[in-house]
Amino acid sequence: MKTLVYAGSFDPITLGHLDIIKRASNLCDKLIVVVFNSQNKKYQFTTEQRLDFLKKSTENIKNIETDSSQLLLADYMNNNGHFCLVRGLRGAESIDLEESMFVTNKTLSDSLESIFLFASPKYRHISSSLVKELAPYPADLKNFVPLCVAEFLKK
Ligand code: ADP
Repeated sequence: MKTLVYAGSFDPITLGHLDIIKRASNLCDKLIVVVFNSQNKKYQFTTEQRLDFLKKSTENIKNIETDSSQLLLADYMNNNGHFCLVRGLRGAESIDLEESMFVTNKTLSDSLESIFLFASPKYRHISSSLVKELAPYPADLKNFVPLCVAEFLKK
């Protein structure tokens, strides 16, 4: 069985993330989407909220499992017997970042593999940071985030 792992902060999940999730789920038997907590990052949403948004947004995708972790990504993969990550690429800047993460992961665990999917043109401008910038304003966010997140932010 081919399992892929898509890990991220998802703070909050966006339509860009969801597009990668849908496309990656078509490439494997099982896609595990993991909400990560890095000790060095500050999140706007709690792990429970991020996981709840993720679950609600992906409930109609059959071969998806969700999880959360505080571990180092390489340790999470090794501990669970997974070896292939999916990452999304949004443009030149993200290629550099993702490459250095790839090299770091390979250095930590040589068996760890990563595959990269370019963002669909429709979603490549969307990031969680952009959503957080827009959120305080009365903007309609349904073209940026799944409905459950847009409704939560409206409140
Ligand atoms: P992290 O903090 O690990 O970068 P993110 O939640 O920001 O977590 O992103 C998780 C993954 O999703 C990363 O590989 C990132 O490049 C990718 N991603 C983020 N936004 C988009 C988008 N609009 N289209 C495609 N991939 C995206």
